[in-house]
Amino acid sequence: MATSPASGGATFLGVPAPRGVGHLRGDMTFPQAARGALANTQLRRNLGHATDVIRTKRATVVAELDDWEQLRLAGEALKRATMARLDEHLDRLEREVTARGGTVHWARDANEANAIVTKLVQETGETEVVKVKSMVTQEIGLNEALEAAGITPYETDLAELIVQLGHDMPSHILVPAIHRNRAEIREIFLREMPDVDPALTAEPRRLAMAARAHLRKTFLRAKVGISGANFGVADTGTLLVVESEGNGRMCLTLPETLITVMGIEKVVPTWQDLEVFLQLLPRSSTGERMNPYTSAWTGVTPGDGPQRFHLVLLDNGRTATLGDAVGRDALHCIKCSACMNVCPVYERTGGHAYGSVYPGPIGAVLSPQLTGIKDNPTLPYASSLCGACFDVCPVRIDIPAILVRLRAQKVEEARAHSRVPSAEAVAMAAASWVMSSPARFAAAEKAARVGRLLGRRTGRIGALPPPLSGWTSSRDLPRPPAETFREWWARERGGRS
Ligand code: SF4
Repeated sequence: MATSPASGGATFLGVPAPRGVGHLRGDMTFPQAARGALANTQLRRNLGHATDVIRTKRATVVAELDDWEQLRLAGEALKRATMARLDEHLDRLEREVTARGGTVHWARDANEANAIVTKLVQETGETEVVKVKSMVTQEIGLNEALEAAGITPYETDLAELIVQLGHDMPSHILVPAIHRNRAEIREIFLREMPDVDPALTAEPRRLAMAARAHLRKTFLRAKVGISGANFGVADTGTLLVVESEGNGRMCLTLPETLITVMGIEKVVPTWQDLEVFLQLLPRSSTGERMNPYTSAWTGVTPGDGPQRFHLVLLDNGRTATLGDAVGRDALHCIKCSACMNVCPVYERTGGHAYGSVYPGPIGAVLSPQLTGIKDNPTLPYASSLCGACFDVCPVRIDIPAILVRLRAQKVEEARAHSRVPSAEAVAMAAASWVMSSPARFAAAEKAARVGRLLGRRTGRIGALPPPLSGWTSSRDLPRPPAETFREWWARERGGRS
């Protein structure tokens, strides 16, 4: 049983909670990966257009509600209250699912979850499964684990299908193939779909029809479905998936066996809580007033739908994340993706640069906490701290505050493991020494005028020698002004304060 710090320490099933593994970190650091992404003008065009469309849709439907801010406050309060008693709600969820004919499994990390799901599929004797779009199964790398065991997973969400056929990784929570344009999707379909019409055009309707025809036989054939869950209602043991295409409804109802993998933070105590979340989620994610498909199922119903139901509850670093009083708020996320669509960093780099299946602002705070900051040290810096993510977040997660907290953790960690002060520590100590004396600060301002020799043409300094190169490697420095503020003040006010 997972226990929150509020109920006695970060443990999972009675042992110290492990940090997560799976697709939560990349091979490159964020600055390295971002450099490559920034050079891809096609990617930036695709992203700029797609995020602009979603942002506008969201803003329109949010403006329709007079009580939007009250809904956000309610969402935040519900999440906070749920996390404070997470262990009790999970216990209740397990009891209710079991009482209604389902089986609950607990997985400490990605490897355990993959092993459980693989074994469950093998027990059915089947060698293929249909999947509902699910971030958590992407997080644990379930498809790769199933394939290694000789089981073929079929993604059935259109965007996930594009990612799977393109041998690609998702780059957005809601629109995993946001980095692809229509022409690229057409090429993937022509290359990867065996029975596709060679005259296929890049018209969205034709592409959707090709995907539907490709998937239809698989839906009807598959005996095992695998899903994630947007919510799990503890009161009744009910699981919910919200989606737009209807593929989820087919996966959840047609197969004989249904396996659901759910992060432990997705539990909500009662149905009444959904009144808030089911208003917040569609408006924030797809810019719709309600989800086209909201599927809910409770255990097993004889003669109706899957006759075997398994729920795999996944920790993978979540209990450890709960141990941080500030960072734990990242677990409130309902994966709407609104923060990605307003983030100036995400819009320029795209999702792959984050190296995790959770990109954008929420990825920058969630991934390092699930893996531990040592394994994702650069993500908390993938932000300008502009605060746009907080403004749109339907559950008011203060992402900038968590980013600052994680940056401090990274500095503390580096300090604890090194006897030699880092270049950053030396620079900060020097800055502190200069800024703590008005005379030293004035002298430093004068000395900075030398910098006016640089950046004369553009007004910006693009590259400085070490140790200042660390700053200019990721951002320009403005050319120092001809007159400092203090000089201007003295001139204008004659030295009066
Ligand atoms: S952090 Fe907030 S805005 Fe971002 S995906 Fe999560 S719920 Fe949505």
